[in-house]
Amino acid sequence: MNKIYDLIIIGAGPAGLAAGLYAGRYQLDTLIIEKAQDGGQISLTSEIENYPGQIIDVKESGNDLIARMRKQSDGFGAKHINDDINSLKLEGDIKVLSSSYGNEYRAKTVIIASGAHFRPIGCKNEDKFRGMGISFCATCDANFFRNLQVFVVGGGDSAVEEAIYLTKFAKKVTIIHRRDELRANKTVQEKAFKNDKIDFIWDSVVDEVNGSDVLNSITIKNVKTGELTKYDADPKDGMMGLFGFIGMQPNTEFLKDSGIEFENGYIKAGESTHTNIPGVFAAGDVRTKLLRQVITAASDGAVAAHEAEKYIASLS
Ligand code: NAP
Repeated sequence: MNKIYDLIIIGAGPAGLAAGLYAGRYQLDTLIIEKAQDGGQISLTSEIENYPGQIIDVKESGNDLIARMRKQSDGFGAKHINDDINSLKLEGDIKVLSSSYGNEYRAKTVIIASGAHFRPIGCKNEDKFRGMGISFCATCDANFFRNLQVFVVGGGDSAVEEAIYLTKFAKKVTIIHRRDELRANKTVQEKAFKNDKIDFIWDSVVDEVNGSDVLNSITIKNVKTGELTKYDADPKDGMMGLFGFIGMQPNTEFLKDSGIEFENGYIKAGESTHTNIPGVFAAGDVRTKLLRQVITAASDGAVAAHEAEKYIASLS
């Protein structure tokens, strides 16, 4: 393929689709390449209620929101295809992207918006109860666990901070940690230890989760003794929550030989979204950033498209 796009966007989550929308409005000839289903992590969320401007009453799912974002970016002319980019030559004025299906794409600029995924908890039946009691985002889902018992897995800053946040909703929050000492910073630890609604299960991991339609029991394994303990939801509640915060994994495997710089596994890029390679930008969860949410991903997409437009103008 000899066509040279102004911009290729890798990933059709909130960052990629917002970039597509803005690039379309800048009249850049834009191609969005998505490997799988549009939406990334948000497509796993059954109800989104923290994106400004939504009509909350209709209980919009992540997929519904993404479908509207897609329609909007299509409407401004961004083209969209499914393909799996597995190699990138990013130096020089024309960037060349190759796919595992043998296709080649060329562009003056590239926005990488390939997202990240939460490290799975790693217990039996986990996939069955994702979105049905198991969550990886307290900001998104805490409200669904009002007055229910909630378990949190992990001992780092995310696990302990999110556990504290969850106490505003849940009747009780139990942190399950694989060691007998938290990794989280001391200030956060102190807050958690002082919080009456939080208790701890040490030296333990989640072995199995069960339920009918929704999660209503979890089995925890003591890693020192091997002892298994089953916790059932209060019959009056009918369900319980389980949040996993054992680290994130950015989707950067395909970039390993691209020359892009990383920091802790994420693409090193600040609020300007510039990477170390001119004409290549990183937007959304895949880049180093403070808060990974739909709203911040969409914001990055707008910034990255703006910066791509400026870069292209500087070439002429
Ligand atoms: P993290 O610091 O890597 O902590 C992950 C936690 O999960 C650790 O306690 C770890 O246990 C546990 N873990 C890892 N794999 C596990 C497994 N397979 N089974 C059970 N437990 C497992 O991740 P994070 O808390 O998401 O934080 C990521 C980074 O963001 C950190 O640098 C953190 O400081 C930063 N952060 C900062 C803030 C803030 O400053 N406000 C907030 C959130 C995050 P071990 O301790 O035994 O290894």
